[in-house]
Amino acid sequence: MALNELTIHAARTGLQAKQFSSTELVKACLARIKQTESKINALITVCEPSALREAKKADQNGYQPSVASRQPLAGIPLVIKDIFSTKGIKTTAGAKLLANYVPVYDATVVTRLKHAGAIILAKANLDAWAHGSSGENSEFGPTKNPWDLSRVPGGSSSGSAASVAADQCLAAMGTDTGGSVRLPASFCGVVGLKPTYGRVSRYGAIALASSLDSMGHLTKDVTDAALILQITAGPDGRDATMPDQPVPDYQKNLSPPLKNLTIGSLLPAKMAPPLKKIYQQALTVLAKQGAKMISVKLPHLDFAIAAYYLIMSSEVSANLARFDGTRFGADRQKFGAEAKRRIMLGTYALSAGYYDAYYRQALKVRTLIAQDFAQTFTKVDLIATPVSPELPFKLGEKTADPLKMYLSDLLTVPANLAGLPALSIPSGYVKQLPVGIQFLGPLFSEAKILQTAYHYEQQAPWQKKRPRL
Ligand code: GLN
Repeated sequence: MALNELTIHAARTGLQAKQFSSTELVKACLARIKQTESKINALITVCEPSALREAKKADQNGYQPSVASRQPLAGIPLVIKDIFSTKGIKTTAGAKLLANYVPVYDATVVTRLKHAGAIILAKANLDAWAHGSSGENSEFGPTKNPWDLSRVPGGSSSGSAASVAADQCLAAMGTDTGGSVRLPASFCGVVGLKPTYGRVSRYGAIALASSLDSMGHLTKDVTDAALILQITAGPDGRDATMPDQPVPDYQKNLSPPLKNLTIGSLLPAKMAPPLKKIYQQALTVLAKQGAKMISVKLPHLDFAIAAYYLIMSSEVSANLARFDGTRFGADRQKFGAEAKRRIMLGTYALSAGYYDAYYRQALKVRTLIAQDFAQTFTKVDLIATPVSPELPFKLGEKTADPLKMYLSDLLTVPANLAGLPALSIPSGYVKQLPVGIQFLGPLFSEAKILQTAYHYEQQAPWQKKRPRL
């Protein structure tokens, strides 16, 4: 196996056993980037010199237990979605308006990863301002799906997912406001985790919609997902929306057997038969491990997209107001069509006379959806749903019709509206295209979600399949 193909935990073992160095690991990733990047366009900035410098430092410090316990990610190269502020490294949010913006500070997630010893290998492409479900709103060109270059990788963390799937790196950070980690994870065949709202600090990530934004990641397996969350989770004085909730030991909790687990199955009406079959097979795998299945319904699910797009746009109109030409160089003319659409929709929904009809109604629906979940979680421990009702679609297929594009998020936005944690994991393939299944749980139930996904993965290791590029 080439070094760039390793998971984080396997690479860590190799570094500790002196089988290879971080310099070799970083070089393998850089070589893979050179080989694949012209095909998939997953990255906006590659930090070659600084990554090699950091790798050399890590190698000099060594990987003995005293280092490993302080720095669980020592010498591990990661890709960061280009929406996390990175000190001294250009941070564009996928938008030309920020093409030359170099932050003077790191996002908390980045600070924590660096303290843990991680190396920033590159900044990943994304839909501009994270607005999108396909990667096609990027102003640096669309990312292509490594499984089929004529198809979208899902968005908005399109580059992060494609980069992990193409083995350009070991894992990547993403953000999820309405599905932007889970949809690309599903479309690219990797594991994507969206933590509970307030579990991971939002400080220093360029805001999409502040009441919905969640900082997540894309990894090659569930063990790596637990490993990264262990580092990024936990209160941060710079994000006032984080409750003082203790961080459990996610990694230790993975392998104990599943006991008394009840899963609520939620299957949307319109699912293509091959996708339905994959979903049902995944549930069978879990049932064989003793999980009890019951079918559940969220009565207000049909209103989730409308509520999400109103609340999200309203918050966009406020958040993007700061890019007014005085602080970040470029003026508002530079906003792309999708950002303008959302600013206008949000400003309208918040304006006097319309606030009650749109924004306030959407907030009420949001509460109803949260109550639907709370009600359901009195009966089940987790809910399982497909991530998407469809396969990765063709580039250009939905760009002319924003509404069609928005509907891609049907099964992902409910978790954000209710603030819940959710994970997408590969569950099979249709015509060589990956299909993910999603596990959702109550607030702060990441440990249970990861444990369930881990056991699923042991029996159905779809995540091991890789695209040929
Ligand atoms: N596709 C959704 C949107 O366009 C979600 C985006 C996200 O999660 N960042 O808003």
